[in-house]
Amino acid sequence: MPIPGNPLGYTLVYAVESPAGPVLVDAGWNHQDAWLALRDGLAAVGIDVRTVRGVVVTHHHPDHAGLAGRVREESGGWIAMHEADVALVRLIRGMAGDLHRNFQADMMRRAGAGVDADAVASSSRPDPPALPDLELRDGDLIDLPGRRLRTVWTPGHTPGHVCLHLEDAGRLFTGDHVLPGITPHIGLYPYDRDDVDPLGDFLGSLDRVADLGDLDALPAHEWTFPDVAARTAEIRVHHEEKLERLLDQITALSPDALTIWDVAEQMVWNRPWTDLGPMQRGMAAGEAAAHLRTLEVRGTIRRVPGAPGDPVRFTAASR
Ligand SMILES: [Zn+2]
Repeated sequence: MPIPGNPLGYTLVYAVESPAGPVLVDAGWNHQDAWLALRDGLAAVGIDVRTVRGVVVTHHHPDHAGLAGRVREESGGWIAMHEADVALVRLIRGMAGDLHRNFQADMMRRAGAGVDADAVASSSRPDPPALPDLELRDGDLIDLPGRRLRTVWTPGHTPGHVCLHLEDAGRLFTGDHVLPGITPHIGLYPYDRDDVDPLGDFLGSLDRVADLGDLDALPAHEWTFPDVAARTAEIRVHHEEKLERLLDQITALSPDALTIWDVAEQMVWNRPWTDLGPMQRGMAAGEAAAHLRTLEVRGTIRRVPGAPGDPVRFTAASR
């Protein structure tokens, strides 16, 4: 299904058949073109969207959960999501547009963002997703009579991201957790949190999936691929290398302490920092913050307390 105006291009939505009606894995972006692609795509394989039994959403992002509400309206089916992402959906739905933007801009200022924070404060955001009917926990079987579709909790990309193991077919729906050519965004929000470790969670979730064996992977973007375990090993190396480079960079500048924004500016992104818009810089900073937090948890860097209102800074732990 198309994601209009997004470089990712499309979301892959899957329909799992059962005697009691099909269940969709993800639902795509909330846009009329995407809706028509879903309705017509299902019709092309003999499924009337009105007979859909439910939608399992791998995580709350708009390119996955966006159309779940519309499918529910048309079919009367349920929407299921992991409880940790349901909590986020409640939070997002409870924040009016202004409140959400100010929250983001404030978090960017605390990370040393300057003018980029003002730009984000005046940007727009997609509609929040529909509130799900069912909250999933790790190991839950999805309500899909005659099949065995099991919830595998894989926090990291979001706190409630799940993969879905179709045990009767040796396949794993990987959502954004494991993609064949790219790696998902792993960010820490707010950037200066010190009570969670999303990248650490993500690396642990790679192990969880690898433990399932060499299953065929059905991801939400790009293309399907064999042997999910082999791909998790590559992604782990990618992040460990990134962590190593980051530590070298911080150690080299020590004892000077860097803000999250300083760090993000110096990291390698798919485009030069000056070509990134304020939103993309905000995401890059989230990714930088997640890597910093993992180094902090591992004890190789530490945060330097500043005066109240000053951005948080990091330096090598050895200094
Ligand atoms: Zn996502």
